[in-house]
Amino acid sequence: MFFHAHPDDEALLTAGTMAMLAAEGHRVVLVVATAGERGLAEMEPGDALGETRLKELYTSAALLGCARVECLGYGDSGLSPKGGSADERPDNAFIDADTEEAAKALAAILQEEEADLLAIYDPAGGYGHPDHVQVHRVGRRASEIAQTPIVLEATVNRDPLVRLLRLASRFYRFPPEFDVRTFESAYSASETITHRVNVRKYAKQKRASMAAHASQASGGDSDRTLAVMLKVPRPLYRLVFGTEWYVRRDLPPGARLTHPFDPWPP
Ligand SMILES: [Zn+2]
Repeated sequence: MFFHAHPDDEALLTAGTMAMLAAEGHRVVLVVATAGERGLAEMEPGDALGETRLKELYTSAALLGCARVECLGYGDSGLSPKGGSADERPDNAFIDADTEEAAKALAAILQEEEADLLAIYDPAGGYGHPDHVQVHRVGRRASEIAQTPIVLEATVNRDPLVRLLRLASRFYRFPPEFDVRTFESAYSASETITHRVNVRKYAKQKRASMAAHASQASGGDSDRTLAVMLKVPRPLYRLVFGTEWYVRRDLPPGARLTHPFDPWPP
């Protein structure tokens, strides 16, 4: 089971792993906390955007071979760094949700599916979006309730990413919201990562999954992150998006596993 905050997060972080596991015959289930109805898009934020984004999520999930998609139905806390002030947020914003209650809802699906593995985010929520931090908290607690054997924290190896972004910034003008410096403390340092999953074989599905989230490649004043990523030429795309990274906290940080179900010790 892969637990994400918003539709499109699965495309960016775990799509290759999901496609790989589905191709290997695993039952892959995708759960999102929110419909992403307050994301930046050409459409106004609101219920209609949420519906559009859930449709995009179903398309993406089908492309990746998911057997089931669920949305916990919390409100998208929005794009501002702390989710904005409390009165700007919807009543049921995910970041205001009771962790225990949300964890029970997620645990119920984990138990129903007898899930062997739950993928969540690292404690920083990757780049720090409050809904992503909440995914970590809720996911951790749900895995305790359901006693899920393996918990992986989806992350990005920031070391090569920062190198690549610094290099790219010399010849490419990133959109204003895309600040290379934020990546220097985001996600995970190389030495803390336990799983490096080679998903090059599934690059086509991953790209198609990203493309399915059309509403997120539009809107805003300039190129969106997703749009920027879709512009990466195909051969380079395999290279850039060919690995997905995870941290499994119950393993030593130096573990270098290549598959989510790799046994430990190897
Ligand atoms: Zn998100």
